[in-house]
Amino acid sequence: MKNNILVINCGSSSLKFSLITPSSGETLVSGLAERLLTNEAQLTIKHNEQKQTANIPSPFDHQKAIEAVVVFLKEQSLTEQIFAVGHRVVHGGEKYSQPTLIDDDVKNNIDELAKLAPLHNPANLQGVLAAEAVFGRIPQVAIFDTAFHQTMPAKAYLYALPYQLYQTHGIRKYGFHGTSHYFVAKSAAALINKTLAESNFISAHLGNGCSITAVKQGKSVDTSLGLTPLEGLMMGTRSGSVDPGIIFHLVDQLGYSLEQVNTLLNKESGLLGVSQLSNDCRELEQAAEQGHQLAQLALDIFCYRIAKTIASFSVCFTSLDGIIFTGGIGENSSHIRSKVLSQLSLLNCAVDNKANITCRFGQSGNIAPTDALPCWVIPTNEEWVIAEQSYQLLNGAK
Ligand code: ADP
Repeated sequence: MKNNILVINCGSSSLKFSLITPSSGETLVSGLAERLLTNEAQLTIKHNEQKQTANIPSPFDHQKAIEAVVVFLKEQSLTEQIFAVGHRVVHGGEKYSQPTLIDDDVKNNIDELAKLAPLHNPANLQGVLAAEAVFGRIPQVAIFDTAFHQTMPAKAYLYALPYQLYQTHGIRKYGFHGTSHYFVAKSAAALINKTLAESNFISAHLGNGCSITAVKQGKSVDTSLGLTPLEGLMMGTRSGSVDPGIIFHLVDQLGYSLEQVNTLLNKESGLLGVSQLSNDCRELEQAAEQGHQLAQLALDIFCYRIAKTIASFSVCFTSLDGIIFTGGIGENSSHIRSKVLSQLSLLNCAVDNKANITCRFGQSGNIAPTDALPCWVIPTNEEWVIAEQSYQLLNGAK
């Protein structure tokens, strides 16, 4: 039956795809094209528990990558089952708070919004154009990473800057990882037999990029990422929030160019910058255990900031159903979770060590003792949300 959704997530030199049955979330095929735009471009496909790789032909671009995916899907007789293509699009500005059928206007707007997400939106648009070229009349849907946060009140999304910067140039907090926060909040609500609209959670998505969102009665009311994915928590290579005065100091006193500051804050800071060793949490945990002091310090700062942000978002609630951890670190690192929760005893947080060790590598559950605030570990599944929302949009369902 023609009811599967091909989900596409394009980066500037990569393309992730999955073919998903929206009703069950089953992934039929998934894969990753990497090193696009170089002659080492390669496609890895996972199907029936087996992995295979193929080279992507010249000009090694997104379109050739999708063509290679389609060749594989055709060989497996899977193309006939594709109902629509769902695209992850990073920035939807204030225009897009819902899944959106892509037409020429939407493409122009994604392009226009590239000024707010110069690293992401152009690549996302590339993916849309490539899929159109390959799939012709199959509908294409955009699911925006910012959409879930469009419910934030003005007091949360406005910076204390002259108001006309917001009115004229759209300078405000947009937030990201929206699809992930929505998915884990909905899943956690189901685990406590509530609807999303009845539940209150603070969710922490901790991967290479990190963010925390206050999800009140199913809606995002505050989030830590901002106009760009640089604000808030310490991340793999991103600094998170710093005193903006540091930028003037770097430029005026230390002779940095703006481009160098940009690279410093986005690519040379965070876990990597402090540890001087790696942006990879797992590697830092191992190094810290062996006595690497800067690795330990990086992890201390990382966890302190997560705890501080969770505590600060408690102002959004009069009651809380729990805290949620997700993302590569949130789903797998019992060490980080325990270190964060130990700093939140005022919120009645505590850790059940056995449950904390059990909930890793895809296992979800509550890692708090029964008399503490529940703390859920929930593996995220943004692809499933994209498939489900694309399908629902095209079927007129809510
Ligand atoms: P992205 O934001 O790129 O999608 P992920 O969500 O995959 O990233 O998260 C990557 C991070 O998860 C890395 O820092 C990695 O070290 C960390 N991670 C994965 N598994 C573990 C683990 N078992 N223990 C600690 N950290 C882990």
